[in-house]
Amino acid sequence: MSYDRFESYIKKLENNDKGYFDVQSEIYNNENINVLKKSNKLDIMKPSENDEYDLAIINGSLVIPDEGIVKENVYIRDGIILSIGKDNKKIATKTIDAQGRYVIPGIVDPHVHLGIYESFEKEIETETRAALHGGITTMGVYFGGQHSHFKTYPSIQDFTDSKSYVDIIPHFVISTNEQAYEMGDYNKYFGVNSFKVYMNGIPEMIPDVNDDFIINVYEKIRSMDKDAILCVHAENNSIIKWAYKKVKKEKGDAASISDWTDTHPAEAEVEAIQRIAEYAKMFQIKTYVVHISSLEGIETLIRLKGNNPYIYGETTSPYLSITRDCCNKNILMEPPVRDKKDVEGLWKAVGEGKVDTIGTDNVSLTQDEKKINSPVWEMLPGYSVLETHLASILNEGYHKRGICLEKLVPLITKNPAKIFGVYPRKGTIAVGSDADVVILDINKESKVSGSKLISRTDFSPYEGKTLKGWASLVIKDGVIVVEDGVSSVKTSSGKVLK
Ligand SMILES: [Zn+2]
Repeated sequence: MSYDRFESYIKKLENNDKGYFDVQSEIYNNENINVLKKSNKLDIMKPSENDEYDLAIINGSLVIPDEGIVKENVYIRDGIILSIGKDNKKIATKTIDAQGRYVIPGIVDPHVHLGIYESFEKEIETETRAALHGGITTMGVYFGGQHSHFKTYPSIQDFTDSKSYVDIIPHFVISTNEQAYEMGDYNKYFGVNSFKVYMNGIPEMIPDVNDDFIINVYEKIRSMDKDAILCVHAENNSIIKWAYKKVKKEKGDAASISDWTDTHPAEAEVEAIQRIAEYAKMFQIKTYVVHISSLEGIETLIRLKGNNPYIYGETTSPYLSITRDCCNKNILMEPPVRDKKDVEGLWKAVGEGKVDTIGTDNVSLTQDEKKINSPVWEMLPGYSVLETHLASILNEGYHKRGICLEKLVPLITKNPAKIFGVYPRKGTIAVGSDADVVILDINKESKVSGSKLISRTDFSPYEGKTLKGWASLVIKDGVIVVEDGVSSVKTSSGKVLK
């Protein structure tokens, strides 16, 4: 199945005078599903009587982003959703009765790191398998390092095609002059159109870049196609250097995980978001602020969005569910988890539809690799949260705060897919979309234990916590890959999305 099925669809849509769409001719509906539904054209789309499907999901409540919850059956063949409708007489090799359950699109996690503390070759296998268990079927992965991406990316692409269980949207980190110089060619030869800069890096891992560098990167992006996007780790590095020194001097090795939060004041986030938003407007480039962690940061984003169509904001499931007074030392992250008021502020923004996406910022590592028994000054940031992403959002958002699925689901499916250019192939349940689908067990409660996770990690920031609302069945490319927490997937089917 080729990606251009939507292109041909759109072309046919423009020139079509029949007023309906025929599945047999490989013209697929996407955004217009609602229009079709209202005019009963969905039924016209149905293939002929004797057509057989690979898989049918019947009687489920489909959560279709921006459309709402509809009770329809979904019919899948060759890894594609071919029909949606009420007709129960269709024949499928396998039928799942989803009566009483919600069916959502496969989750698109826009923000993942792989290959940081273990080789990419290993983690593209272990961590994407873990992701599937959490209902994530597509992930945006950041590729960093100090080398030219021409040296590192070809093997990444090969490993992804041969070992990944999920589909990958590549984001290239730009932190050296050589990488900045080559950006146009990355776009041209790899088809990569998502880049990232760190206004504040990670000590000894990722260098900070200054504004001259960022302006140069914007100029490079401006010469690419209009969908190219810059992702930004937005924190003011001077504020952080100052605060870090101050806290370290005052607390020394006795500094607690809660003190760590004070090394990254919210003001650092606020200032950097304001600055980058100005550049976004100046260069008219889509700019995506990753992992907004503070109340002040999200309020700044909301205010700026009012008159700046170029700025997008992401928060992460850990920032929506963990506070600094949590007793686990393993929550150390950059930016840090903060206070209850920040968690509530982020949820308020989610509830009001002011946050664009929720990602994970997953960095998989073990307690040893994290140096969990060292002073916070030596510990390394990160945690493996792919498997708990959906459950933590459902637990905190749906169950605790009563935010409906119609509001939550787009933030983890359609919005990231759209911002990073893979919608409607990903991020929705529509005729013509890839058959990546998750059936929820919305009331299932399960206690998190790091040692039981599929990830190669041995801890979880949710250690010992009971989360309510999990993926019960995961379908990737039309194949059931996880059922009741048990993986049935033998070979990988992930690929790099262009
Ligand atoms: Zn990150």
